[in-house]
This record gives sequence, C-alpha cells and structure tokens, in this order.
Amino acid sequence: MGHDHPDPSTDDWANPDFCPFCGTRLTDPGAGFIDHLDESESCRERFADWREHIADDIGSEWSG
Ligand SMILES: [Zn+2]
Repeated sequence: MGHDHPDPSTDDWANPDFCPFCGTRLTDPGAGFIDHLDESESCRERFADWREHIADDIGSEWSG
C-alpha cells in the first residue's frame, strides 16, 4: 500500500496527496482535494463533520 497521510491535527492535512476519507489519489494537493469533495458527497459530509470538530477544538474556522 504505501501512502502516508498527514495527521489531521497538522497543517499538512490540508494539502494531502490522497483523500483522507476514501484514499483516492488527488490530482493536486489542496485544490484537488476541494474538487474531490465536490465529486464525493460522502467525503464532503465527513469533511464537514471533521471541520466542525476541529473548529470546536481550536475555536476557529479552517480556511483553505
Ligand atoms: Zn474521498
């Protein structure tokens, strides 16, 4: 298998090579992830849940 994914608590997580939810390879780090979320409703929902959770933890919005 062979891909490492950045930890969700780090900034690197916002620029992944792979979708952290389904493992799909992204065309571009960052921008490709946003495109992927557009195409994948389940990943978009999981991302929204994750973002809410992080916002609770650190008290600010994730901005990409
Ligand atoms: Zn995905």
